[in-house]
Amino acid sequence: MPMRGLSDKRRPDFLPDSSIVTEQEKREIVRRAYHYRCGYCGVHEEEVGSELEIDHFQPRSLDGGEDWENLVYCCTACNRRKGNFWPSERASTRRRLLHPQRDEVSLHLREEIDGRLVALTETGAFHMERLQLNRPPLIALRRTRHEVAFLRDGLKAAQDEQTQLRQRVGTLEQALEDVLNQLARLLGS
Ligand SMILES: [Zn+2]
Repeated sequence: MPMRGLSDKRRPDFLPDSSIVTEQEKREIVRRAYHYRCGYCGVHEEEVGSELEIDHFQPRSLDGGEDWENLVYCCTACNRRKGNFWPSERASTRRRLLHPQRDEVSLHLREEIDGRLVALTETGAFHMERLQLNRPPLIALRRTRHEVAFLRDGLKAAQDEQTQLRQRVGTLEQALEDVLNQLARLLGS
């Protein structure tokens, strides 16, 4: 199941130097780069009813900078859970957070049909637990998305079938008309 909003590589090709743009421009660029979704849980602005926050992947208090790669569009819930986390030099390199655009998140986490995330690696498990990515509202949201996708597929199949039936009815009507014309000629002769 693709991890919507989590693993998409959607940075614009060209970005101005982040130190020369205004705060508002910087926010807009990050918003757009993440397609208005939280980089960690994939929730959309429209689903939470407000703009999201700008997270510093490496916290500013721990030498994190303002370069584009360090700025992640992020919902309040993920930002609060992430907090000031940054792995210490002594910690295992596997116990770290996944960067939404630098890491291939789908190699570490898989989305089940029931909306739960399952860790595929130790890093995935750490990331998921730290950000609590299986919080009940997120599971419900993912499940609803699956259901909508399923219904959309069903609707598409029904529409395709309807188109085929219309064509078949058209062919049969034409055949009937031919037969009636032949019959009229026979009766008329
Ligand atoms: Zn989030």
